[in-house]
Amino acid sequence: MSYTIENLPVAVIGAGPIGLSAAVNLLDAGLTPIVFESGDCAGANLARWGHVRMFSPWSYNMDPKAVSLLKETDWAEPAPSEFPTGNELLKRYVLPLASHQNIAPHLHLNTRVENISRQYHDVLRNKGRAHAPFVVRVSNPQGERDILVRAVIDASGTYQTPNWLGAHGIPAVGELAASQSISYGVPTILGPNSKGYAGKSVLVIGGGHSAFNALQDLVTLSEQSNGMRVLWGIRGASVDNLVRSPKNDELQERRRLEVHIQTLLEEGKIDVFTDIAIEKINTENGKLMVQSHSHELPPVDEIIAATGFRPNLQLLSELRIAIDPATQSPVHLGPLIDPNFHTCGSVPEHGAEELSHPETGFYIVGIKSYGRAPTFLLRTGYKQVASVTSTLANQVIDEEPVEDNTLSCDELAANRCCAK
Ligand SMILES: Cc1cc2nc3c(=O)[nH]c(=O)nc-3n(C[C@H](O)[C@H](O)[C@H](O)COP(=O)(O)OP(=O)(O)OC[C@H]3O[C@@H](n4cnc5c(N)ncnc54)[C@H](O)[C@@H]3O)c2cc1C
Repeated sequence: MSYTIENLPVAVIGAGPIGLSAAVNLLDAGLTPIVFESGDCAGANLARWGHVRMFSPWSYNMDPKAVSLLKETDWAEPAPSEFPTGNELLKRYVLPLASHQNIAPHLHLNTRVENISRQYHDVLRNKGRAHAPFVVRVSNPQGERDILVRAVIDASGTYQTPNWLGAHGIPAVGELAASQSISYGVPTILGPNSKGYAGKSVLVIGGGHSAFNALQDLVTLSEQSNGMRVLWGIRGASVDNLVRSPKNDELQERRRLEVHIQTLLEEGKIDVFTDIAIEKINTENGKLMVQSHSHELPPVDEIIAATGFRPNLQLLSELRIAIDPATQSPVHLGPLIDPNFHTCGSVPEHGAEELSHPETGFYIVGIKSYGRAPTFLLRTGYKQVASVTSTLANQVIDEEPVEDNTLSCDELAANRCCAK
């Protein structure tokens, strides 16, 4: 089949809020998106933490371009200053957007991207690389196939690749074997979809807002059910600076959560263990024995690992990507979002330039672009995709034959001499 690369669509991996925003922006820029979503609905990751109330209000959580599109329909716009749960964001914004007549024809559900490469180019090969279309290998219930595209926007999120409990970044000894009793992320604790934490001893590991959410719900549950114990393990030496957001924080819901956890601690409803570095988890008589710095914590029935997430870089292994070695974000973005220096909301504005890779036409956006840094906000992601799609729309793909700059053996030998 013949094609010119300009006529090919732009692949978007993931139909979360940011992937859908990329689709809206691509259409707006005159480009054709093809959106692949592994879940059976758009926003499949949001559904996984749907019970959690967000700390940013609706006005921060929606892309203004998508809002304009939705306003053309009979969509009921949410009140800008209210704080949705993940489920509300899904039902009142993501799903209406995904089913909008402009977006739905470009969306492929139950379709997982397995690999990405460039046509006839593995990662090593130079010649003609920038002019070769990308090959996106997808799998769905019908089987596997390859789709050619002119560019790729990876908005596949991080929720499905959580960090381990183990202190060294790898699973603690015994962690995999104990996986039946460990939940990663922010599991549902209250209500009928809960794993069943009532009456149990539950240890929450992690020092961020996901841990706060889990602790808050566990304490609520413990007030309704007998015999529960809520334990909290953190890496730091104390919980003194728990209320980190300023009084006038523009994300008031975030501060409310911090103050609430502080109150629960003062009321003695949570047992805190500091300086935790988990090395080993054993299962004895149905209880989990957690070993930290060679000390054992009290036995527990369940562990909630609110230890953050990491990007899946495996599907990008045939692309020339440049990743910051610490944050695992695109290399130019890394220093701007390093969690040692930045908290939620204080990351400088950035766009296509900071998100670029040596592989022309490839971008990681959304929460995946932050790698292991925990500070991503949707509002930032919407700005990212506006910049990336405008760069793609203005990108000139030169169809001229490319110069072969492979060095001959003699030239190589000469180079080696020069290098001496
Ligand atoms: C508990 C929690 C609370 C949060 N609260 C806030 C908040 O208050 N404010 C805020 O701004 N942000 C918040 N965030 C952070 C962030 O905004 C969300 O995680 C948001 O969902 C990120 O959007 P995304 O589109 O980048 O990724 P996701 O929403 O994770 O979407 C990625 C999509 O890609 C799909 N996918 C994954 N792999 C593949 C594949 N190989 N092929 C095809 N599809 C694939 C997934 O199924 C998913 O639908 C929160 C995050 C969490 C976990």
